[in-house]
Amino acid sequence: MRKMFICGNWKMNTTAAEAVRLLDGLKPAAAAAPAVEVGACPPFVYLAGASAALKGSAIALGAQNMYFEASGAFTGEISASMLTDVGCKYVILGHSERRHVFGEGDELINKKVRAAFAAGLIPILCVGELLEERESGNTEAVVKRHVTEGLRGLAASDAARIVIAYEPVWAIGTGKTATPEQANDVHVFIRGLLAELYDVETASAIRIQYGGSVKPDNTFDLMSLPEVDGALVGGASLKVDSFSQIIKEAARACS
Ligand code: PEP
Repeated sequence: MRKMFICGNWKMNTTAAEAVRLLDGLKPAAAAAPAVEVGACPPFVYLAGASAALKGSAIALGAQNMYFEASGAFTGEISASMLTDVGCKYVILGHSERRHVFGEGDELINKKVRAAFAAGLIPILCVGELLEERESGNTEAVVKRHVTEGLRGLAASDAARIVIAYEPVWAIGTGKTATPEQANDVHVFIRGLLAELYDVETASAIRIQYGGSVKPDNTFDLMSLPEVDGALVGGASLKVDSFSQIIKEAARACS
């Protein structure tokens, strides 16, 4: 049974004080929705403070990126063990902004996925097509490449624990959400692909989130889809009210 997972990706936002206020403000909604796992991914520099603020709460902490090497001369980078050291459970990898703004490719992302598991972190592997890739009929080919290359070399026991976030790039931060049908089609495709890459049991254990302009008013319809196991939320995760409402709507969808 897959537990629904609603996770906030704060990107490069908040101050230290705002980060703690936001986390404190989310605690009542998270506590009122035990059927939903709630997570937050603040910027690196606020992770330690966030971890302290979350002590005793069920909200999981995640980071937005990491490097695959364990330590050494990699100026400006953060390792997986540093993230577990400050209390992270999750790390977002392959986010479209990492792929398209910072030029990260599938091979690098795969190295990060494997290093994350080796250090005890659970990756949230983001996959998804650009608008022109959708319009040229290449959505499945792109998603297949992101998933297959992202998981390359992973044993079924690790793969079963990964979270995949299907995030059509044209829906991220644009206010354009995929329709429930569009989201469901790709989620069904990913689930089938995972069964081919592994087996039906492993595929059915993997949580597949939807991401892309998730808001309180579209959460229920998206989260009610049988193959959608949660959401990765950007803009709407930065306000206590909107993210609390999304958690509430997700709980309603899985009740
Ligand atoms: C994201 O950054 O992963 C995201 C889905 O952003 P938004 O919800 O703002 O579209």
